[in-house]
Amino acid sequence: MNILLTLVIFYVGAALGSFLSVIVHRTRHNMPGILAGRSLCPNCKHQLSAIDLFPVLSYIFSAGKCRYCHAKIAPHYLFLEILTGIVLAALYLKFPFEIFTLTAPYTIFDTALLWEFLRYALISLTMLAIFFYDLLYQEIPDAFSLTGIMFALLGNITLTSPGFTEVAIGAGVGGSFFLVQILISRGSWVGMGDVILGIFMGTVLGWKLLIVALFISYISGTIISLWLLAANKATRKTKIPFAPFLVTGTILAILFGQQLLNWYLNSILV
Ligand SMILES: [Zn+2]
Repeated sequence: MNILLTLVIFYVGAALGSFLSVIVHRTRHNMPGILAGRSLCPNCKHQLSAIDLFPVLSYIFSAGKCRYCHAKIAPHYLFLEILTGIVLAALYLKFPFEIFTLTAPYTIFDTALLWEFLRYALISLTMLAIFFYDLLYQEIPDAFSLTGIMFALLGNITLTSPGFTEVAIGAGVGGSFFLVQILISRGSWVGMGDVILGIFMGTVLGWKLLIVALFISYISGTIISLWLLAANKATRKTKIPFAPFLVTGTILAILFGQQLLNWYLNSILV
């Protein structure tokens, strides 16, 4: 573990978070060039220059306003940048892939940990795009979940853990968990977007950690909803997007799921 590298990864994560908000915006508005093209101010359409594109810092130095038209930039962009930075830094702390030695070449990479880091970084970035999209537009784009399933399967084939059976059961349980809710509620609680996200979660985690993730999602979803109701920020009729909680549950399960599971099993078996 290295503090400087943790900070660098946080900052790269923040840059990727800012890139994710571009992808979300362009997907929503069917704009061409999801992966290329220059960024514009959504208000005055002024092309942003390099100095406007430093994650977090640009926002702070411009006091959250566009430098050209002075329109306020919604704080959720800053939130996504910081959140993505924190998630990638946390993944690095879980998979500290560099090893320092006292002899040359001094720094070597543990390739197994590096692959684990890259795999979960790609998966988490896709998850965060879903988080942000659902938060803004109350919809889960299938294209995002399907991309994520592809990353998860690729990781699973090359890294073999969690095992194939566990992943297959996970995908089945994740999908049917939401499919059953569609059938019971005739589509009023959740939609097909949740089913595909459920399959994505199961493919990433395998069935054991999927249960941990769903548990975290529902507990945090309930706490936040009750808090919103109590603070009069929501009424019983407000539709609170649920994918952000599912994504939070999945990322926490990637980071701490195994420990939580062990702790739980130990405390009921004693
Ligand atoms: Zn502007």
